Amino acid sequence: MVTWLLSPIEYNLIMRTLQSFAQGQWHQADSKFQICHNAITGVPVAKISSQGLDFAAMRDYARDKGQDSLAQMTFHERALMLKELALHLLSKKDDFYRLSQATGATRQDSWIDIEGGIGTLFVYSGKGRREMPDHTVYIDGAYEPLSKDGSFIGQHICTPMQGVAVHINAFNFPCWGMLEKLAPTLLAGMPAIVKPASDTAYLTELMFREMIASGVLPEGSVQLICGSTGNLLDLLDGQDVVAFTGSRSTGQYLKSLDNIQQQGVRFTMEADSLNCSILTPDATPDTPEFQAYVNEVVREMTVKCGQKCTAIRRAIVPNALIDVVSEAIINQLDKVIIGNPANKSVQMGALASLAQQQEVREKIAQLSPFTKLVYGNIEELEVVDGDAITGAFMAPILLRADGALNCPQVHDIEAFGPVSTVMGYDTLAEAAQLANMGEGSLVGSIFGYDDDMVNELVIKTASYHGRLLLINRDSAKHSSGHGSPLPHLTHGGPGRAGGGEELGGIRGVLHYMQRTALQGSPTTLTRITQQYLPAAKTTEPPKHPFKLYFEELTVGQSLTTDSRTISLADIEAFAELSGDRFYAHMDEDAAARNPFFEQRVAHGYFIVSMAAGLFVYPEEGPVLANYGLDDLRFTEPVYPGDEITIHFTCKQKAYRRGKGYGEVRWFIQAINQGDEVVAQYDILTLVASKYEPVVEDEN
Ligand code: NAP
Repeated sequence: MVTWLLSPIEYNLIMRTLQSFAQGQWHQADSKFQICHNAITGVPVAKISSQGLDFAAMRDYARDKGQDSLAQMTFHERALMLKELALHLLSKKDDFYRLSQATGATRQDSWIDIEGGIGTLFVYSGKGRREMPDHTVYIDGAYEPLSKDGSFIGQHICTPMQGVAVHINAFNFPCWGMLEKLAPTLLAGMPAIVKPASDTAYLTELMFREMIASGVLPEGSVQLICGSTGNLLDLLDGQDVVAFTGSRSTGQYLKSLDNIQQQGVRFTMEADSLNCSILTPDATPDTPEFQAYVNEVVREMTVKCGQKCTAIRRAIVPNALIDVVSEAIINQLDKVIIGNPANKSVQMGALASLAQQQEVREKIAQLSPFTKLVYGNIEELEVVDGDAITGAFMAPILLRADGALNCPQVHDIEAFGPVSTVMGYDTLAEAAQLANMGEGSLVGSIFGYDDDMVNELVIKTASYHGRLLLINRDSAKHSSGHGSPLPHLTHGGPGRAGGGEELGGIRGVLHYMQRTALQGSPTTLTRITQQYLPAAKTTEPPKHPFKLYFEELTVGQSLTTDSRTISLADIEAFAELSGDRFYAHMDEDAAARNPFFEQRVAHGYFIVSMAAGLFVYPEEGPVLANYGLDDLRFTEPVYPGDEITIHFTCKQKAYRRGKGYGEVRWFIQAINQGDEVVAQYDILTLVASKYEPVVEDEN
C-alpha cells in the first residue's frame, strides 16, 4: 500500500520531488534536478532526477523477478490483471484530473489522456481473454501440413521476449502514453521500465504510484525512471525491446546508438508526422461533409492545444474551395476561449511548457517564408484566468501555403502546437501527391460523399499512412475522430512517422513476443500449444465427454460415434423442415448437371445437425450450452446410402475465472464409409466447473 504523508490534493499543490520506482522500491535522487513548471501559471510543480539509480540492477530485476512472475500467468490471467488495474485507476481518476490541469490540459484533453489510457487497459483485457488462449503460448495462424501422411507439420507460435521492455514516452500524453504501451507489454508477459518525458512526468508518477498501490501487478513487472535513462540503453540486448514515442530526431538518435544496433535490440519508433486531412471536390459548403471537415480541423488544432502527434497539420482542399474553407475555420477559431482550464468556459488550455511555446514559435518562424498567416496572433493573446506571459498559452495559428506541391518545407516542418496549414489542389492526383509529401504519417483523413473519389484517394495514399479515417454524412456522427488512436487499430506510420506500429489489438501484443516456426509431429506440437492438431494422438475419455466437468476434460480426449446411413427420406425431411429446397438436394437431373455433384446431395447443414445427434449426450450434465461453430467446411458431397461417423475431440480449453464455467472447443470431423472427411469444424461449448458454482453472465 502507498502511504500518503499528505492528502493527494495537498500533494498536488506543492513542488514535489519525483521519485523513480526501481527494484520494487521508491528511489529519490539527491542531485542533478530539473524543474517542471505548471503550464498555466509557470510555478514550479516538481523536480526530477534519476541520479543514483542502478540501471543494470533495474534491468536484472525486470529480467529475473518480472519475467518469472509474469511467466507464471496465462494470457487470461494477465488480461484480468489489466482489468483490475484499470478499475483501480478509474477509482482514483479525480486525483489525476486535478493534477492534469498543471500540464495545460482542459477537462476534455485530460479525459483523452486519463480515461483514454484506462480504456486501453480495458480493451486489452477484453481482447486478451477473447482472442488469446488461456495458456502461455500464443498460436499464430493455422498449422501447415508438411507431409502427405500428416505426421510432420508446422505451426507458428509466439512467446514473450525474455528481456525487458523500455518505454520512452513523449510529454503530451503522460497517462495514455504510459498505459497504451503497458497494456500490450504486460499482456504479452514482458516486464517494463517506463520512462516518461520529464516535462509532465509528475502526472505519470502520480498514476504510477496508484498502479503500485493497487497491489495488482506482480513483483518486478513494472519500474519507473523519473529523469534520464542513464546508461540503460547501453545494457540492452536482443531479448529487450525499446518502444519510443517522441520527436524524429531523438528517435533516430536512440535507434542508431551503437549498442542498440550491435545487439539487434528491437526498437519501435512512433515519431512526429505532418498528418493531413483531404476534403474532396464534391464536399461543397452546402454538404454535411464540408461542415464535418471544418469542425474536425478546428478540433484537431485546439484539442490538447494542438500537441497531438496525430493532429491535422495540413488541410488539403480543392483550390475552388480554399477561401471558403479558410473562412469557415477562422469563424470557428475566433470563438475558441483560451485560458486556465480551471475556468469552465475555457476550450483550449496551454502548451505543456514555456519551452514548448518557444519551440512552436520557432517552427512557425521557419514556416513563414513558405506560408501566409491567415489567422492568429503569435505575439498577443487574451487569456481567461491566466497570464499570457507566465503561462504557456498560444493562439491557434492558421497558415496558407500556395504552391505547396513545389514546397517540401510545408510538408516537413512540424509546429507541435495549435498550428495547421491550408493548401489547395486541382485534381485528386494532386491531392494524393500533397498528402504523400508528408513522407509517411500516422493518420490521414478524407472527407467526402463520393466513394469513387474516396476510393481513388485511399488507393493513392494508403501506403503512406498508418491509419486513414474516411468521413461522410453516414459515419460522421459516430466517428471517433481524426486524432484518436484506438486500441483496436494500428497506431503508427511508415517513413517519417517512425516506421513503427503500436496497438492494433493483438498485433500490438506480438511486438513484445518472438514468433517461432515449430516443425514436428502433431502430438508434440499439441503438447506445446495446448491446442489439438489433426492427426495428433488422442486419448479415450473415462466416460462420454459431455459427462465430464471442465477440470476433468483434457485436450486430445476423443470419441468416435456410431455411424448413421443417410437416406433420401432424410434429405426430403430436412428440406421440408428447413425450407431449403435448393435444386441440388431436390432434383436428380439438375443435381447431376452440377459440376460438383453426381446426384441429389444431402444438405451440409443436415450433416452438421445429424452429427450433433450422434455425439451429444442428451441428459442434463456439465455441458451448459453450445454457443457457436467455427471454420466449417464441407469437403466431400454426401449421397443417399453414405454412412457417416463422427470424430469428436477436445481441442482447446479456457476457463472463465469467476464464472464457474469455461469454454471448450471441440474439433469435429464427419467421415464417410470410405474414410473420407466430408465435413470438418469446431464447435464451442460452455462447460461447468466441478468446483465453482456457475455465475450468471451480466452481458
Ligand atoms: P522528445 O524530445 O523526442 O522526447 C521524447 C522522449 O525521449 C522523452 O521521454 C525524453 O525524455 C526522451 N529522451 C530524449 N533524449 C533522450 C536520450 N538521450 N535518451 C533517452 N531518452 C531520451 O519528444 P517530446 O518533446 O517529448 O514529444 C514531442 C514530439 O513527440 C513531437 O514531435 C510529436 O510529434 C511526437 N509524438 C509522437 C507520438 C506518436 O505516437 N507518434 C506521440 C506523441 C508525440 P526527457 O523529456 O527527459 O528529455
